[in-house]
Amino acid sequence: AEAALVQAQKMEAVGQLASTMAHDFNNILASLMGYLYLIKRRSSDQQIRDLADKAVKAADRGKRLTARVLTFSRQGEAAVTMLDVHATLAGMQEWLAHSVGPSTQLTMPPEGSQRLVALVDLSQFELALLNLVINARDAMPGGGHIDIQVREETLEAPEGELPAGRYVVVSVKDSGTGMPPEVVARAFDPFFTTKPAGRGTGLGLAQVINFTHQSQGAARIESAPGQGTCVSLWLAAGAPDAAVATLPRFLDSGHDV
Ligand code: ADP
Repeated sequence: AEAALVQAQKMEAVGQLASTMAHDFNNILASLMGYLYLIKRRSSDQQIRDLADKAVKAADRGKRLTARVLTFSRQGEAAVTMLDVHATLAGMQEWLAHSVGPSTQLTMPPEGSQRLVALVDLSQFELALLNLVINARDAMPGGGHIDIQVREETLEAPEGELPAGRYVVVSVKDSGTGMPPEVVARAFDPFFTTKPAGRGTGLGLAQVINFTHQSQGAARIESAPGQGTCVSLWLAAGAPDAAVATLPRFLDSGHDV
């Protein structure tokens, strides 16, 4: 328990520092992007417009990274609601597919799947999914397949950190490189990354694990080198007839991650 406390304090300190920096960087990148758009619009020189395009893309990548840091440190403000998981995922499909790009095939549960309700914070849920599909994409440099599935599980007795009860399990499986055991062991640690500088923050899976803990749940990784990876989110299930929220707030706010 003491180790968990130290870990939590470490995450809080690190989160505050990261959040301040991410804020400043986000503002800098936003104004940079504004100027680049102006250059692109005002220049009649195609070569300059192409270069401005490239610069916008680089700045955009920077914005995505800062967004990941910011949402990681916003963990404290969770607003847990009843969520219809299939409907919410369906609403996110286009956005997730766009985020992973055309070389990655994304499959989701079919329309009209059984209604499953989980107790989660919607924006944290969306971010967890985004973090997972981005990791999956990064593990498949030559392209590949991501499969998102949802199922219901009932634990009759506590299992590890999970209390007995009903869960909605969302799993994200990829056909990528997989991870050796020493990477699996540290994958959830904040700032642990194997990606080159500027590509990874090491905060994606830290957000994912914090998010599942908020939902009285847990996250699990099954992975081996050459075997791909499957990350499962165990989320506390709500009553199937509960009134639910499905609106993807995150998309509506024009937040362009
Ligand atoms: P980041 O993506 O910024 O590196 P994460 O916390 O999301 O941070 O992931 C930590 C590390 O776990 C990654 O650098 C990578 O080594 C490993 N990892 C995470 N997801 C996957 C995956 N789907 N396939 C292979 N390795 C992964």
